[in-house]
Amino acid sequence: MTLLQRLILAFIPAARRAEAEAETRAWHYTCEACGHARSVWDLGGIRWKASGQSVTRTKCPACGTIGFHTLDKRTTH
Ligand SMILES: [Zn+2]
Repeated sequence: MTLLQRLILAFIPAARRAEAEAETRAWHYTCEACGHARSVWDLGGIRWKASGQSVTRTKCPACGTIGFHTLDKRTTH
């Protein structure tokens, strides 16, 4: 867990922290070039009580392409 995650989780009631972590782990950035997916949790972030999709432009660690990564929520891993 990163410092940022610890700080954010400190503001979430203890009973909801597991839920916040589980939901964050469900959110993934997927590389449009190769399909490589990384969870928001693994990237050191928190995403909770969010919906919808977003797209960001970044470098993929798998294929090295600088391109679009789609952020979406998955129900399975
Ligand atoms: Zn890629």
